[in-house]
Amino acid sequence: MYYDVLSLEAGRLEALLKFEVSLYEERTGKSRELSSRAKAAVPAGVASCYQLFDPYPFYVDNSDGNSVIDVDGNRLLDFHGGYGVTLFGYKHPYIVASATRLFTEQGFLVSLPTTSLVDLSEHLANRYKLPFWRFLNSGTESTLDAIRLARARLDRPYIIKIESGYHGHHDAVWVSVHAGERDSAAAGSADEDIPQVPFCKGIPESFSSLTLIAEFNNLASVKRLFEKYPGQVAGVIVEPVLLNCSMIKPRDGFLQQLIDLCRSNQAAVIFDLVKINTAIDINHIRTFWDSQSCGPDMYTLGKGLSGGSCPMGAIGMSAEFAEIVESKKVQVSGTYNGNSFAIGMALAVQRFVTEEKQASLEALSKRLCEGIAVVIAKHNLPCMTDTIGNKTCVTFFKAGAQLTPVRNYQHYIKNVDLVLEQLMVYYFINRGIWVQTRDEISMSYSHTVEDVDRFIAMFESFAQAVISANKV
Ligand code: PLP
Repeated sequence: MYYDVLSLEAGRLEALLKFEVSLYEERTGKSRELSSRAKAAVPAGVASCYQLFDPYPFYVDNSDGNSVIDVDGNRLLDFHGGYGVTLFGYKHPYIVASATRLFTEQGFLVSLPTTSLVDLSEHLANRYKLPFWRFLNSGTESTLDAIRLARARLDRPYIIKIESGYHGHHDAVWVSVHAGERDSAAAGSADEDIPQVPFCKGIPESFSSLTLIAEFNNLASVKRLFEKYPGQVAGVIVEPVLLNCSMIKPRDGFLQQLIDLCRSNQAAVIFDLVKINTAIDINHIRTFWDSQSCGPDMYTLGKGLSGGSCPMGAIGMSAEFAEIVESKKVQVSGTYNGNSFAIGMALAVQRFVTEEKQASLEALSKRLCEGIAVVIAKHNLPCMTDTIGNKTCVTFFKAGAQLTPVRNYQHYIKNVDLVLEQLMVYYFINRGIWVQTRDEISMSYSHTVEDVDRFIAMFESFAQAVISANKV
């Protein structure tokens, strides 16, 4: 598919970006001061490296409903939602009431199982069709233990992950995440290894070499790894819809073939739903593979599991993996694991998020995606938009790139216009909407149709600003 799109000049976009960054600095003087102060006590002035962006992040003073308010008093309509975590926005009455009840009835941590633990496990077993559940404190912990379980099953050392797939920041998965363009045309073909690139220092090569890299939507790239390491691959971890580099959906039966390939090689299949999260109806995700066949052996959950009310993670597993835990061949443990507050909040959230409620968020996302698509078509912008569940994504393409749905990370990184992507973020922040580069636009139960329409209107004015700059 090729559209006649507007050709945007890089130099002019960069000038506009510079202007928007200076506008950001004008609006965020107190954040700048706080950032300098923070740097004396907090490395880089932020709690997580992902919170950092140039020239400094805005610091939040308060949050309320659909918005965050920064220390300079700027109110931003929040479509970032803590990387899609805050399903309820902020101070939602249902969350406040549930949290208050739990605190007053049970406190926070009893370090013993509760009735809610059983209720939540049964609830998730029914929803996700995997019978056993263990709870942890983050997505990172969930994927860490899921991989350990996969390795323990047949005592195999290797795991396969998808290039650019993000599964948290432990050593087994912080490999080849946004590792950049590969120049070779053969990359990902049957003849070439995809490099195993540790995300940062401190991950020894002897660790990262155990994580083999394949491409999304490229079964041959997985197959060759099974052939190269016969009987040594413990499992494959993959997001069913690859996020963090636009929104890449599986094509041509990729997930079903992946499941079949793993089964024939006695390797575990881990579907990482941490970012997909519980706001998205699992039945939609299941349409990407044959729901009559065996699905994955494990799901990992996190982020929205507790609706943003407290840290939370979970592993759903088949009986075979539950037996590994039960026999203590692998210990899945932690002081805060399954603490009564987190379990109680997750149960409250899961009971709230019915299929109808999921559909209501999906309707808002569809409205947004359709509205953005109208603006794109009207101005022949070099962009595409897509949606799933409560998430919408806009992908900006470089001049001359073909506008086809992104297939995998190399397709993304070679064709995406990172300047335009960044420009949109600053443009929106400066005018009161919080979104972040490379992240999806996430709906919460605090968002309204009016909020969505405000976003679409701002996308229209952003398009006009870009077009005017292009003409100057
Ligand atoms: N898995 C996926 C798919 C994610 O997107 C993330 C976080 O972005 C994680 C795992 C790690 O979760 P956490 O940040 O809670 O450790």
